[in-house]
Amino acid sequence: HRSKSTGLPDVRERTLVAIKPDGVQRRLVGQIIQRFEQRGFKLVGLKMLQASQDVLSEHYCNLRTKPFYNSLVRYMTSGPLVVMVWEGHNVVQTSRTMVGHTNPAQAQAGTVRGDFSIHVSRNVIHASDSVEGAQKEIQLWFQAKDLLDWNCWDQISTGEL
Ligand code: UDP
Repeated sequence: HRSKSTGLPDVRERTLVAIKPDGVQRRLVGQIIQRFEQRGFKLVGLKMLQASQDVLSEHYCNLRTKPFYNSLVRYMTSGPLVVMVWEGHNVVQTSRTMVGHTNPAQAQAGTVRGDFSIHVSRNVIHASDSVEGAQKEIQLWFQAKDLLDWNCWDQISTGEL
C-alpha cells in the first residue's frame, strides 16, 4: 500500500530520540526539534522528564558491563531529558545519520553531534539504532496512549483524509 501524496510505501516506522541533559542545559531543544521537523518527520510523542536509574539500566542494558556505564548513568540522570517519538519513511536510519557518530570528534559537520559537541561523554542526543531497538525503547519510555496518530496538513491538503 502506497501513500497517494508521495507514492512512497505508507510506512509507520517510528524511532525514539532523546535530547540528553547537556542538550537541554545548553538550550538546544528548539534547534534539534527543528531539524527533525524540517527534514519531514512527524512528531507523535514528546515529554520532558528526569530519568530514573531503572529506566536507564533497561535502556542501556547492552552497555552495563562497559567501563563508562556508571558515568553514563550519572550523566543521563544529571538533569531533565526531552524524549520524543518521530515517525516517517526510514526514520530510524535517517535519524542516526542526522545524529552523527557516537564520538563527536568523528561526527561529520551537519550532524547534531558534529555541530554541537566535542566529547563522547557529552554528546547531546540519543536515537535508536534499529527498528527492533526503536520498538523496545518506545515501549520503555512511552505509554501507547501518549503516542498520537494524527494527520499532517500535507495529507489534508492533498485530500488524503
Ligand atoms: N558513551 C560514553 N563513552 C563511550 C561510548 C559511549 O560515554 O566510550 C556513551 C555516549 O553517551 C553514547 C552512549 O554511551 O551515546 C551509548 O553508547 P552507544 O555505543 O550505544 O552509542 P549511540 O547509539 O548513542 O551512538
